[in-house]
Amino acid sequence: MYDIRGLNEECGVFGIWNHPHAATLTYMALHSLQHRGQEGAGIVCSNGESLFGARGMGLLTEAISDAQLESLQGFQNAIGHVRYATTGASEIANVQPFLFKHSKGDLGLAHNGNLTNAVQIRHALESEGSVFQTTSDSEVLAHLLIRGKSPNIKTNQKAALNQVKGAFSCVMLNTNQLAAVRDNNGVRPLMLGEVDGAYCVASETCAFQAIGATYIRDIEPGELITFSGENDIDYDYYSTNINHNMCSMEYVYFARPDSEFHKHSIYNVRKALGKKLASEMGIEADIVIGVPDSSLQAAKGFSEYTGIPNEQGLLKNRYIGRTFITPDQSVREKQVRMKHSPIRDVIEGKRVVVIDDSIVRGTTSKYIVKALKSAGAKEVHMGISSPPLVDPCYYGIDVSTHAELMAAQHTVEEMKEMIGADSLTYLSVEGMHEVFREFDSKGECDACFTGNYPIEIVDHQLPEVKELKRRGV
Ligand code: AMP
Ligand code: SF4
Repeated sequence: MYDIRGLNEECGVFGIWNHPHAATLTYMALHSLQHRGQEGAGIVCSNGESLFGARGMGLLTEAISDAQLESLQGFQNAIGHVRYATTGASEIANVQPFLFKHSKGDLGLAHNGNLTNAVQIRHALESEGSVFQTTSDSEVLAHLLIRGKSPNIKTNQKAALNQVKGAFSCVMLNTNQLAAVRDNNGVRPLMLGEVDGAYCVASETCAFQAIGATYIRDIEPGELITFSGENDIDYDYYSTNINHNMCSMEYVYFARPDSEFHKHSIYNVRKALGKKLASEMGIEADIVIGVPDSSLQAAKGFSEYTGIPNEQGLLKNRYIGRTFITPDQSVREKQVRMKHSPIRDVIEGKRVVVIDDSIVRGTTSKYIVKALKSAGAKEVHMGISSPPLVDPCYYGIDVSTHAELMAAQHTVEEMKEMIGADSLTYLSVEGMHEVFREFDSKGECDACFTGNYPIEIVDHQLPEVKELKRRGV
């Protein structure tokens, strides 16, 4: 049985070549990428002859003990991974980096994204006798890499990468080479940096800040960069078919505001999304507040554009994980209540604009409108700094199924009634892309807002996957 749920992964990756403290820097970098994955974490290191790893479930501090980190000291090359909790198979076998011991040599692999033809390839490989240890799509890539026939490792890497479809920002560690690759649509971010003369790569630049590394540049769609020897770097492409389909949700919600894409901070992008929403919304109000933390910048931008004062009207309990992680809806509702608390003095008697980055199931917005009203708000106008989420994501972000997506099931007017707001306004799709272009983005995937999927979703056409979907798995 194929667990297609296991294919849903949102993750963070890191890699470093030829640094005396490779494992410790990887640990520190993963810590700053923790928002990209809280279900499990791991590190794989190389001493030039063999690969060694440590991985575990939970937050990084739970997943890797001090003793395990200690055991990885002295190795100069490392990769690391944090994995997001979704409805998928939550088990240690799926925690990355994967470490394969093979007669051709050891291989470590860490992947962020989602392959859209993994089940199809897995079928083919299994029929030829391959045995898989996990339900993860990433293992398919590892099999393809190991099966390469050429004595040249990069030739095998290119051949494997050309067989997989979907979204992937990957780091691959061999005993004598580290490779970093971004899929030819550039869906997930991947950045190149340098620390103490050693090269490093990370999903987001906040990881570079954490270890004192310099952010060199974004790795381009289709680019395959390899590191070897002392500090040799080789820039190449695995594909000539290059498209720019950076995930819009990375800008809107997922990435950390202090991270930079194309040398622009996510902080400023989110502020500009708030400004654009304000220009489209046209509303009179006394205060504007953001849902902490991901929407504080959009609320600031909204305030700058309209002149409506920006207040902190909601306080966030920092010690609760993301509400999305909880699989059960009734628990999710209680968690949202624990998570955001209104400040009555700020809210009472006011016409409030509240900005959030997105509505998924509507749990957060329903609670927030109710909480603001019971704190005495005269009116509550909800502004969303992205368009309605109407379609699922197959490229590595857990944007639910049609049945769970509120905007897939209801009109904006119906949603306004359901969440109890006096008005509900979304940013337009065009407005969102205009903002991204201001920040030098060359093109973005917007499939969860439009249904225009830029990469073929092969697996979901397979009969057995259709059957799983029909049964609601
Ligand atoms: P909901 O309460 O189900 O409507 O979810 C909305 C909240 O979830 C928003 O406040 C977002 O900040 C957050 N959110 C949006 N997309 C995701 C995602 N893919 N994973 C986790 N949280 C998300
Ligand atoms: Fe991002 Fe949405 Fe595209 Fe998925 S479908 S990659 S969440 S923009």
